[in-house]
Amino acid sequence: LNPTMAALIFCTAIYALQQRLSAPRGIARDLVAALRHGELSLAFQPQVDGMGEITGAEALLRWHHPAKGPIPPSIFIPAAEEVGLMPLVGSFVLEEALATLSRWQADPKLGRLTLSVNVSASQFNEADFETTLRDLLARHHIDATRLRLELTESVLIAGLEPVAEKMASLKRLGLTFSLDDFGTGFSSLAYLRRLPVSELKIDRSFVTAAAENDRDAALVRSIRAIATDLGLETVAEGVETQAQLAFLKSTGCRVFQGYLFGRPMPLADFELSVLAPKPKPMPPPERPTPRLA
Ligand code: C2E
Ligand code: MG
Ligand code: MG
Ligand code: MG
Repeated sequence: LNPTMAALIFCTAIYALQQRLSAPRGIARDLVAALRHGELSLAFQPQVDGMGEITGAEALLRWHHPAKGPIPPSIFIPAAEEVGLMPLVGSFVLEEALATLSRWQADPKLGRLTLSVNVSASQFNEADFETTLRDLLARHHIDATRLRLELTESVLIAGLEPVAEKMASLKRLGLTFSLDDFGTGFSSLAYLRRLPVSELKIDRSFVTAAAENDRDAALVRSIRAIATDLGLETVAEGVETQAQLAFLKSTGCRVFQGYLFGRPMPLADFELSVLAPKPKPMPPPERPTPRLA
């Protein structure tokens, strides 16, 4: 290794590091502009029951950058989190979500739908989260029983006791809680017993693997068993195939979300699919029974 090469490698490494450290700042700067210029929106992904009827939706944040095109939440949410912008982004999400719920409530055909909204740990743990949410619910005249907040266990960074109390207090408003990405973290049964959640979302990674290997299938079965014991509903996320659906149904799971039923879509499209459902595909025609000679 000659000194020039060494220097070059060193500089490249420093540059790469700098880029990595400043990337979230760049994204964050753009994100503030995005909020101001209306580049953020919510997409709605259907949640269905065992009959394939839409019972509600999960609201998923989308960012369409004017120059860069769509930027996935897996990129901009961690960046927003890193620079402390997530509470601001999260209040945009809540505002949009509750405006949508209030529209639905005014329509007899949409009024029964539930809306699941992702709330990040930093947003939930803000001191004024509860007041902000109360005010929003009141302003939009929302029947809070239609609202479900999705939390991940990372929310527990603030401590089990204060989180459990805040959840209990919010629950008294009528809304419910769902534990997102269940099974991927350090899930402990002890905390599950203490938190007033009504639903577990079985993470997509298990759903994908369960139809293929026994260990993941066993994992899904034990999540179902825990849910049954604690009286919790389960939602399977990332259902893409009939085989996955069949397996999940065999475990007793009753609510499903995934590309098999619909991708996250703009509000108007989602409402259309509830109001004017496409005819379900006919089962394949029965083969004539071979006659014995
Ligand atoms: P999540 O809450 O676990 O959301 C489920 C993710 O799985 C979504 O990705 C959804 O589009 C995707 N998905 C659903 N069904 C399928 C499927 O059948 N196959 C595959 N391959 N993917 C499927 P998305 O929209 O990219 O969101 C990623 C994550 O970003 C979310 O995971 C959530 O943690 C976060 N996120 C999205 N919107 C918000 C938000 O408004 N607030 C907060 N705090 N986080 C959000
Ligand atoms: Mg979610
Ligand atoms: Mg999830
Ligand atoms: Mg997930």
